[in-house]
Amino acid sequence: MKFRNFKMVGYVVYGRGSFNQLDEILAPQRKEGKPMVFLVDHFFEGKVLISRIPVRGKDKIIFADVTYEPKTTYVDKLAQQLKDEFGTVSGVIGIGGGSTMDLAKAVSLMMNNPGSSADYQGWDLVKHPGVYKAGIPTLSGTGAEVSRTTVLTGPTKKLGMNSDFTPFDQIVLDPELTKDAPANQRFYTGMDCYIHCIESLEGTYLNEFSKSYGEKALQLCRDVFVNKDSWDDDCDDKLMMASYAGGMSIAYSQVGVAHAVSYGLSYLLGTKHGIGNCIVMNHLQEYYPAGVKEFKYMVEKNNIDIPTGICKGLSEEDFEKMINVSMGMKPLWENALGKDWEKIMTRKKLRELYEKL
Ligand code: NAD
Ligand code: ZN
Repeated sequence: MKFRNFKMVGYVVYGRGSFNQLDEILAPQRKEGKPMVFLVDHFFEGKVLISRIPVRGKDKIIFADVTYEPKTTYVDKLAQQLKDEFGTVSGVIGIGGGSTMDLAKAVSLMMNNPGSSADYQGWDLVKHPGVYKAGIPTLSGTGAEVSRTTVLTGPTKKLGMNSDFTPFDQIVLDPELTKDAPANQRFYTGMDCYIHCIESLEGTYLNEFSKSYGEKALQLCRDVFVNKDSWDDDCDDKLMMASYAGGMSIAYSQVGVAHAVSYGLSYLLGTKHGIGNCIVMNHLQEYYPAGVKEFKYMVEKNNIDIPTGICKGLSEEDFEKMINVSMGMKPLWENALGKDWEKIMTRKKLRELYEKL
């Protein structure tokens, strides 16, 4: 038995208004003549948050287009642009949801690694540390702020740059930044966390480390989506910590059926991570009976729309593609269903599940 020895985020600051400390936090990381680059979710273009970014000297703000989930081509383009303009930079600061944070991690790594980010999609392929990088979430749930991966869609696969160089050097957890998120988006991303917890806690890889974080994150998700009758600051505070703890839980276990199936949707149809997980979770009563029951209750209580019928009219070839992508997620299936998972989740069974979505 080999135990995972995982790299964690360097520094963490948590609290309402902690964003105001960013200037002070970045000061020691600044290198003579080299700018800090703030990669900011395009939602914030023209919003007050922009005026609060501690821009100094040649620092640059780039608005990240997150209409689609990050692609390797986009990462390469951003890194090349920075190399052309500055040679190198002092750091890359990602301010946004999971997509923007993943972009920031990937761009930081590509400042110091040759070739294309597509060359590093996989496990431990990254050769050199990136430039300094910080993550500042404006949506809570993905756990991208603590993870050792950055999920990218490449020419042949959707897979992260998983490595010890990937986690942020610093994260700034300021729940004030999530307060304007639309209710549906907040729910979809929040449910990513809820689903991480269910998959981790019901999985075969579970140990006391994962369980401790998973149980806490689950309780926080319940406080927010089950016990509260309307959204308030306390919900933003709690969901931000749920995301952190949920991410820590899967750092030492793995996700499961909802993620394995939703990866197929996202590869073929471009379905976004949060909503895709929700679409799948809605039909997983066989695998996670209690979790799915509670999930449905939360959907109803929070008045959320979960799309249905998204696989209607797909061709035979389309289903095959999704099944191939999903079946390729071996550790997820093994965590969910055990060593003999292939006997339980056959291609036929998976096809039936996709047809229901
Ligand atoms: P997102 O980053 O894709 O953003 C979703 C939408 O919300 C966008 O339109 C964005 O502009 C908007 N938005 C962001 N913050 C906002 C705010 N405060 N107010 C209003 N709108 C706001 O959403 P997400 O669910 O946080 O992230 C999903 C991405 O994270 C996917 O690309 C997925 O692959 C990735 N992910 C990564 C990991 C990891 O460990 N690296 C884990 C899970 C998911
Ligand atoms: Zn997820």
